[in-house]
Amino acid sequence: MKFRCERCGQYHGVSEISLGADAPGQWSILTDAERAASILTPDQCMIEADGKSAWFIRGCLSVPIQHTDEEFTWGVWCSLSAKSHDEISQHWDDPERIHLGPHFGWLSTAIPHYPDTMFMKTMVHHQAPGLRPLIILEPTDHPLSVDQREGISSKRMKAIVESAFHDFDE
Ligand SMILES: [Zn+2]
Repeated sequence: MKFRCERCGQYHGVSEISLGADAPGQWSILTDAERAASILTPDQCMIEADGKSAWFIRGCLSVPIQHTDEEFTWGVWCSLSAKSHDEISQHWDDPERIHLGPHFGWLSTAIPHYPDTMFMKTMVHHQAPGLRPLIILEPTDHPLSVDQREGISSKRMKAIVESAFHDFDE
């Protein structure tokens, strides 16, 4: 799916953008010492702060695009309980891990273009090793939850695509 861009006149494709967070939102507010005590990989994160540990997993939050068979995926993080984290870690390379969970997680990424998305309730659905889990939001009236259930309009998708191409230019 491509749009003619209002800003530059070029055609931009939904599949040409990927909007993902490299770390949970909480990572950015850590002190240097807390960050040094924490662990961040492309798929998992453990934050040590205030004498407590918190675990996170990176996943894919997909939103269907209305009247198409396409979807747009945000790269997001969710926090996990210690128990969930342990279970997932033990089965990280196990083909049978698709049968784990789903696990409860708090969304830990502020998604642009939406009202505050931090700490929305989600379920983390695991996929085969090598694939990031699918993040399903609790069905609520929050616009992101509505979009995941009912799809995003192509008009709003276009605005997100244009922003991705032009709002973060150096
Ligand atoms: Zn453009």
